[in-house]
Amino acid sequence: MSCSSVRLTQWLHSGSHRLRSRVLIAGGSIGGLTTAVLLRDLGYDVQVFERASVALQERGTGIVVLPITERYFTEGNLGHDNRVSLELSDWTYLDRSGAVISADPDHFRFSGWSTVYRALHDAFDPDRYHLNSEMVGFDQRPDGVSLHLADGRRIEGDLLICADGLSSTARGILLPEVAPTYAGYVAWRAITPEQDLSQATLAALSDAMLYQVLDHSHILVYAIPSPSGSITPGERTVNSVWYRNYPDDGAFADLMTGIDGERRSGTMPPGMIRPEFVEEMRQSARETLAPAIREVVLACEEPLIQAIFDLEVPRMVFGRVCILGDAAFGLRPHVAAGQAKACADAWALHDALVEVDHDLDAALAVWEPRQLQLGRSAVAKTRAMGDRSQVAGTMVAGDPAWKFGLWEPGN
Ligand SMILES: Cc1cc2nc3c(=O)[nH]c(=O)nc-3n(C[C@H](O)[C@H](O)[C@H](O)COP(=O)(O)OP(=O)(O)OC[C@H]3O[C@@H](n4cnc5c(N)ncnc54)[C@H](O)[C@@H]3O)c2cc1C
Repeated sequence: MSCSSVRLTQWLHSGSHRLRSRVLIAGGSIGGLTTAVLLRDLGYDVQVFERASVALQERGTGIVVLPITERYFTEGNLGHDNRVSLELSDWTYLDRSGAVISADPDHFRFSGWSTVYRALHDAFDPDRYHLNSEMVGFDQRPDGVSLHLADGRRIEGDLLICADGLSSTARGILLPEVAPTYAGYVAWRAITPEQDLSQATLAALSDAMLYQVLDHSHILVYAIPSPSGSITPGERTVNSVWYRNYPDDGAFADLMTGIDGERRSGTMPPGMIRPEFVEEMRQSARETLAPAIREVVLACEEPLIQAIFDLEVPRMVFGRVCILGDAAFGLRPHVAAGQAKACADAWALHDALVEVDHDLDAALAVWEPRQLQLGRSAVAKTRAMGDRSQVAGTMVAGDPAWKFGLWEPGN
């Protein structure tokens, strides 16, 4: 039984069945939901307020799953290992011809964003997950907080945790001078069912993640569970992530202006990218990519674009309001640590509450410096990696420094 389950069991048997403090969470994605299930398991009265009007599980592409991202499913209170990912055993670099130039036996786990989201969503109480509930502000007292929602509701709580992502409303209120900075490049992302791929490409992808280092660019391709959860080779989904430079001199703004004329800042959804950009990307794929990687990219009719940003905050705690996950630190995805960082913030808050016997203010005081330090080092590391690949052009196939990890390569 895990540490949190032991504490909950002890507490439930202590004779006191009064719920602990009221915790309000703004933002119901990976960071918000991980915090919600962990604090709920500690006995807190947790409610999640999510801006979206429908549950988010139909969205998202592939993610690398570091141990902390699915820690709730491997050692949470579910009582059994309930992984939400598949494992690949080889980290392989190809050249333009498709020849293997570096292959490392290494075990990493992969999933779909929506698979992880759905599992967390299912683990939380549906009547405490409120869709259509956009945070627009809050008031604080020394011992509590009042959350303001767009529809006029006021929700009283003892602690407000803002996990509202890179464009955080809370951060805009608390730290208006801090904003994400565009890194100079985007990730073209595509997902393709394995059924649509040739036998040769399926064989190349069966147990390997494929990387290709390109001129001031790189691409990686890996399998993830299918939308129905199948991890059987041949039935899975394949995900590609191609980092390409678009200077902030008009090229980026042009790319992010969709077929509907709307200028988007962070993500250009499938079907919205203007055809001339899709065709330019496909032509470049034909000219530069290894056959297996090229096939995956070209098989997807509606790719999406995720712009890459850096973000770093000087503080995460503001009285009884705190910010975590992407709202606080925006990491370039090169060590696959965005989800892991959000989950690490959630686990660290859980641990801090236990450490100080559930004194909220003391827990926040313990939590903040640790997470600031982690966030700063992760931002610095991922910025340096991105600059090596996209600016200096000095990324080297097989460099162990590229191994995924939040704290260090491989971890
Ligand atoms: C729909 C979706 C799909 C994603 N797909 C991928 C993917 O495929 N691959 C990948 O690497 N990363 C993906 N991400 C990003 C990834 O989840 C984050 O980078 C990382 O997990 C950190 O999560 P987070 O919870 O801190 O922030 P986010 O995941 O960005 O979540 C923020 C949440 O807060 C909500 N929100 C925003 N403002 C408000 C407000 N004012 N009031 C209430 N709610 C608010 C948003 O709707 C969102 O659900 C996706 C995020 C979302 C929301």
